[in-house]
Amino acid sequence: MHKKLFIPGPVEVKDDVLQKMATPMIGHRTKEASKLQRDISEKLMKLFYTKNQVMLSTTSGTGLMEAAIRSCTRKRAAVFVVGAFGKRWYDMAVANNVPVDKFEVEWGSATTPEMVDEVLSTGKYDLITVTHNETSTGIMNPVGEIGEVVKKYPDVVFCVDTVSSAGGAKIEVDKWGIDVCITSTQKALGLPPGLAICTVSEKALEAAKQVEHRGFYLDLLRLYQYIQKKDHQYPSTPSIPHMYALDYQLDKILEEGLENRFARHKEMADYVRAWAKKYFDLFADERYASNTLTTIKNTRGINVAELNKRLGMRGYMISNGYGNLKEKTFRIAHMADTTLPEVKELLENIEDILEL
Ligand SMILES: *Cc1c(COP(=O)(O)O)cnc(C)c1O
Repeated sequence: MHKKLFIPGPVEVKDDVLQKMATPMIGHRTKEASKLQRDISEKLMKLFYTKNQVMLSTTSGTGLMEAAIRSCTRKRAAVFVVGAFGKRWYDMAVANNVPVDKFEVEWGSATTPEMVDEVLSTGKYDLITVTHNETSTGIMNPVGEIGEVVKKYPDVVFCVDTVSSAGGAKIEVDKWGIDVCITSTQKALGLPPGLAICTVSEKALEAAKQVEHRGFYLDLLRLYQYIQKKDHQYPSTPSIPHMYALDYQLDKILEEGLENRFARHKEMADYVRAWAKKYFDLFADERYASNTLTTIKNTRGINVAELNKRLGMRGYMISNGYGNLKEKTFRIAHMADTTLPEVKELLENIEDILEL
């Protein structure tokens, strides 16, 4: 039996979207390939409220995170960590020999504009990374407000991980001053895993020009220059099946209406949060609680793995806590094309199993 996924990626993918993955292949050096990739870029510019170039990468989101920190750090990177995915950015900087410092808060808290201002005022850093939506803790950081602070530091390249929020929450790249905004297909966008997306600003590209060793496959500047020269084609063979599905899904997203889509996510989040507070508690500081997933504190000491097993027999799957938070928390994703009635059905099943 297929288990309906309420995990924070991969998410349920609609059948019609899945079918697009089976579109007959075209050559990746054809006019059709250019058109497909150009269309996708234009639609994604709407989703991200930006005039910046959109680039795709046949990697998961992690690939473009590594590309950004490696390609654009000239002096030293400041990585703001509120959970496991923030920390990943620090680890990849270390692995690439990129000078880096980590600024971590207690998990469940947010990165604040004040924190960022204090760190940047030292003048030591020319790139920062912030996680928009931390999928381990369920925190959605105030990236718009952080962006206002970053604007005071014109040399700083602002990189934001929106992997689990893009498509489920409003992210205004130009207004917020984000230089590299990264996401993956398998979360709030509602597609299978395997493709990553970013927007890239002039500032980020200028920074990359000053970095000597940017790698090869994940060199942001090389990617950018290639797609400029070859009308949106990519230096190596991209996942064309994903592109067909993405192009189609973006039409559906724009048809739903961005504001409607974000409102639907907010409505599901409000419902799950109220439920969590009634029976358990929220792990995240509620002022910064995520609209695409909820991390629930296991205040009743239930056996989360057992709950998930029993949900599985009924055709549902949720997520245990991430890493050290396993069994101490559990996570319910409410993203992509999930609807409120589906969320209610899941929660009723949990109540039934736990006899709440
Ligand atoms: C899932 C996730 C990632 C990793 O993305 P992949 O596409 O699996 O590489 C990074 N950051 C956040 C916030 C995520 O939720």
